[in-house]
Amino acid sequence: MNGIKIKNLGGKMVDLSEEHLRDMDDRLRGILLRKGDEGYEESRKVWNGMVDKKPALIIRCFSPADVITAMDFVLEHRLKSSIRAGGHNVSGASIADQGLVIDVSQMRNVHVDPDERTAVVESGALLGDLDRETAPFDLAAPVGVVSETGVAGLTLHGGVGWLTRKHGLSIDNLKSIEIVTGRGDFLRTSEEENQDLFWALRGGGGNFGVVTAFEFDLHPVASMVSVMITAYPLEDSVKVMKAVRDYMASAPEELMLIASYGRVPEMPEIDEEQHGEPALMLLGCYSGKEESAEEIIDPLRTIIEPIADLTSLMKWKELQQLFDEDYPDGKLYYWKSIYLDRLDDDVMTILEKYTRSQPSDDTTIDIWFLDGAMNRVPPEATAFFNRQYPYMVGIEANWSESDRSEANITWARDLYSELEKLTSGGSYLNFPGNLEKEEIMLRSAYGDNLERLKQIKAKFDPDNIMPGLLSISSA
Ligand SMILES: Cc1cc2nc3c(=O)[nH]c(=O)nc-3n(C[C@H](O)[C@H](O)[C@H](O)COP(=O)(O)OP(=O)(O)OC[C@H]3O[C@@H](n4cnc5c(N)ncnc54)[C@H](O)[C@@H]3O)c2cc1C
Repeated sequence: MNGIKIKNLGGKMVDLSEEHLRDMDDRLRGILLRKGDEGYEESRKVWNGMVDKKPALIIRCFSPADVITAMDFVLEHRLKSSIRAGGHNVSGASIADQGLVIDVSQMRNVHVDPDERTAVVESGALLGDLDRETAPFDLAAPVGVVSETGVAGLTLHGGVGWLTRKHGLSIDNLKSIEIVTGRGDFLRTSEEENQDLFWALRGGGGNFGVVTAFEFDLHPVASMVSVMITAYPLEDSVKVMKAVRDYMASAPEELMLIASYGRVPEMPEIDEEQHGEPALMLLGCYSGKEESAEEIIDPLRTIIEPIADLTSLMKWKELQQLFDEDYPDGKLYYWKSIYLDRLDDDVMTILEKYTRSQPSDDTTIDIWFLDGAMNRVPPEATAFFNRQYPYMVGIEANWSESDRSEANITWARDLYSELEKLTSGGSYLNFPGNLEKEEIMLRSAYGDNLERLKQIKAKFDPDNIMPGLLSISSA
């Protein structure tokens, strides 16, 4: 065999000899994959069907030792590289086109210590791997709401889910992180060790190296939680949302809510006539005491007569998997987000208007009610800066026909632009679109924390070996 051509850090195509590749292969427990190898296609493809990148080389790591070896190889040959965990970031940044991918997706072990209420989670784990191990102990880590997404990307950029109002962002529940830095050093970071890097990793993403494991604090959750699902006609959305906003302003933090604008789903439990109609859905989880659930949730269920009410008790793990099938692999997606400091008539009118004009029935506009524990952590306590906003809008354009991509992307960008005029809030990096306007996104994501982040980046990854979603070096 004749070696391969691969992009280097400067963006030039260079040769890697067969000897270099063989030598690398010998040092790995994991697998070296190039085009044509079994596993290459599976490893290069990500969740978002809009992404079609072809890396020259993929290193599938099985252990931290493999990650160290992979990083040494990247450093030695100065290669353009990326890190792949769950492969669910909508931007597709986990795949370096024509470069090298360090793929940790096989490293999925989770170890729970029920006495200490902690879990050590390898960085390729999916949320479902974590929930499966914690659920038997009636414990949970505050992560996201779809079990097939990756723990690593979610956590390194914040992490919001059903426990956010009560326990904060995923990063607010970390005890330690292990990482192979962009200099090739294996480090443990925590409030006691390498504090500056621990600070930076909590929000700063994949800019500093390859994380190999996270240690989370866990929290008790009842084995059955109350899950609220109601739907209302879109023409009543302003009335309903005003009542929801006012109620949530003083609701207990065990209640988490997402208000989702879209179309009534085709479910047998819902009157067929309503299927596909524009609607506002309320999706909530009350994770407090079962006996208080009705009292807490009912005021939201009785604002007006709903089209449908599927509220029920559910196992925590079931809730975490409830929305999995709405987001199949390979479909076309473009997701953006913007924080809001207010939810008033102007905002609600825009949300209703764009719901009517959405080019795809599969699309939703999701309002996350975030007010709670994450706001009480000072913005300078971790790299994650945007903690003051009570609401976040997730603009989720989802469609199937490739000739409809422009219409769907334009719709999402137009909605973003309209909302942008009404708020000082920037984007949440876990829903980052195509990472357009990198410089502006960096400044809005990190605010006053950007200068400190740049210093820490210079210390642990001076050559920008790991560019992350947004490269802190480029600010
Ligand atoms: C269906 C769906 C539901 C979602 N729900 C939620 C939700 O409820 N809450 C929420 O907050 N977000 C949610 N998200 C967003 C999701 O959290 C992000 O897309 C996240 O980045 C996905 O993580 P991943 O590991 O799959 O990412 P990948 O695509 O594998 O990686 C994304 C980036 O993260 C960095 N990275 C990944 N692994 C490592 C590592 N080991 N070391 C260093 N850097 C690394 C790299 O920069 C990489 O480019 C959802 C996304 C989808 C598709």
